[in-house]
Amino acid sequence: VIIMSIESSCDETSCALVKNGREVLSNIIYSQIDIHKKFGGVVPEIASRNHLEKISQVIDEALEGADLTFNDVRAIATTYGPGLVGALLVGMSNAKALAYSLGVKLIPVNHIEGHIYANFIEHKELEPPFVCLIVSGGHSHLVYMSDYGKYEILGKTRDDAVGEAFDKVARTLGLGYPGGPKIDALAKSGNPNAIEFPRVYLEKDSLDFSFSGIKSSVLNYINSCKMKNIEIVNEDVAASFQQAVVEVLSVKLIRAAKLKKVKNIVLAGGVAANSGLRNYLISLSKENDLKLYFPSIELCTDNAAMIGSAAYYEYISGADADLNLNAVPNLKLGEKRYAGSK
Ligand code: ATP
Ligand code: MG
Ligand code: FE
Repeated sequence: VIIMSIESSCDETSCALVKNGREVLSNIIYSQIDIHKKFGGVVPEIASRNHLEKISQVIDEALEGADLTFNDVRAIATTYGPGLVGALLVGMSNAKALAYSLGVKLIPVNHIEGHIYANFIEHKELEPPFVCLIVSGGHSHLVYMSDYGKYEILGKTRDDAVGEAFDKVARTLGLGYPGGPKIDALAKSGNPNAIEFPRVYLEKDSLDFSFSGIKSSVLNYINSCKMKNIEIVNEDVAASFQQAVVEVLSVKLIRAAKLKKVKNIVLAGGVAANSGLRNYLISLSKENDLKLYFPSIELCTDNAAMIGSAAYYEYISGADADLNLNAVPNLKLGEKRYAGSK
């Protein structure tokens, strides 16, 4: 079964062709990062306009890249939430038009669930059950995935998402957008023990997160350095901030794995690209006799291949939306909000 998938929830316009949920035939990603950079973040109206300009080209390139035609496509998948409504609508309308004209099924996919499925593409042996840490630009979740399409949220952030915290700290340091990769790069030459930023674990046994406190601590540290005329070493700030965040995320992921008695732990979302997080968890998972999975850097951030993978499992469980499908900007993990959902 070959599924064409379209992703346009934020600032990547992407189309992929994926076979049986695990084999990527093509995955074309057009990123708008260079356009939004000068504004220091994603501007929704500009995102929609650029999706509109690129979507047809991205779809054509996906077919060309896989050396296929529309006749080979069995279903059209689209991200329908969460994300920016105007951005989502561009990919979704194109998906609807294609599904209608080709007479194939329309499969709506939850973007955050898609991030988890990026792992299935590269790790053919990976199957649920497992515990997944989803850390992206807008979400931070600890999830127990008992089966395809079955999620239990064990914990989530009470304020900022991890990616958001990275981006804000980067902005404070004047590093530009998106900040995550820049903090990651700087941290490599910094001392993670230089500055003692708080590790926020919340109540005993809680699997929730809070990142607004550490963000403020970094801000306070920088301001007090400026006031006292102390030199700010960006590398040390980046390394110390990253270390504090990585420790909390990792400790809670391991705790969740023990709680659910699973052997496999999985990372997903843009922040799963972070080398500090990956390296820390590589050793922590060994110590705890757990097997760690994460996607390659390209599949951590937004792409349509992960949507195509999730869509396959929806397809075999009978998903088929009608043309009234609408974008759901605040769609929750594990939630289905469309007519025809089973
Ligand atoms: P969501 O998936 O929650 O809707 P999004 O799609 O905007 O949000 P992603 O594309 O999954 O988010 O991830 C982007 C985020 O990942 C940004 O906040 C970015 O700074 C962060 N990020 C990317 N690479 C790294 C890295 N190497 N280290 C830390 N953060 C990173
Ligand atoms: Mg993005
Ligand atoms: Fe995302």
